[in-house]
Amino acid sequence: MSESIDVTGRLRKMPAEAGDPVAYNLAIGDNRITLNDLIGHKVRLNFDGVIRCIHCDRTTKKSFNQGYCYPCFRKLAACDSCIMSPEKCHYHLGTCREPEWGEANCMVEHVVYLANSSGLKVGITRATQVPTRWIDQGAVTAIPMLRVASRYLSGLVEVACKNHVADRTNWRAMLKGDVPELDLVQERERLLDLIADDLAQLRAQHGEESIRIVDEATLGLGYPVQVWPAKVKTHNLDKTPEVEGLLEGIKGQYLMLDTGVINIRKFTGYEVRFRVLD
Ligand SMILES: [Zn+2]
Repeated sequence: MSESIDVTGRLRKMPAEAGDPVAYNLAIGDNRITLNDLIGHKVRLNFDGVIRCIHCDRTTKKSFNQGYCYPCFRKLAACDSCIMSPEKCHYHLGTCREPEWGEANCMVEHVVYLANSSGLKVGITRATQVPTRWIDQGAVTAIPMLRVASRYLSGLVEVACKNHVADRTNWRAMLKGDVPELDLVQERERLLDLIADDLAQLRAQHGEESIRIVDEATLGLGYPVQVWPAKVKTHNLDKTPEVEGLLEGIKGQYLMLDTGVINIRKFTGYEVRFRVLD
């Protein structure tokens, strides 16, 4: 069956569904390929040199912010620096690039969470992005800590947390499956104690109801991985337009091939051909 898979189109971020293991699809144009079934098979990805903006379809020589053309990168609120640094949200100053987008995506409930992707980290996401965000980061466990009124406020809470906890994933360790066991319920209690004064101050400024401590359970996530790489070598379609190998696993937004790993998200917007060779 699988040897008949040969599709061409624009690459998208991999849709994934929580479960044990997480169920991944490869999204190429309108095609959705069930990836978990292809583990143990040889696959090939060819990039034909065309990148089309995921927002406006225009072709672009270079991809900005994982799939956008330069004009969109400069114009869209989704590409503004406050998306990476939510504490810099400037909606309240009346300078949001797209106020309507901001209202729908930023001025809505956000979750401040703890996750274990390569050790303990804090992160924030729009409430509707749970658990997608955690899967994209390759977290093996994650737990909501606070529900807050806006992206801006989640950023301010995250800044307070960063004094005590990392906010980055070591993706090499994540891909090696090199992850310590953590009790996230306990870590959540510990961190809430450490930031209690910061939270009190933020509540005084933004309203008592704007930050809620939540008592939600830990979510565990398993990934479809047959063989963990001993050394993590990365494929880059910009340098090597043909990538081939035995699919050994999928974690985060990475395909793990016996020849190296490839971050699918990084190549969003690239026109590719994907084939199963055996
Ligand atoms: Zn564009």
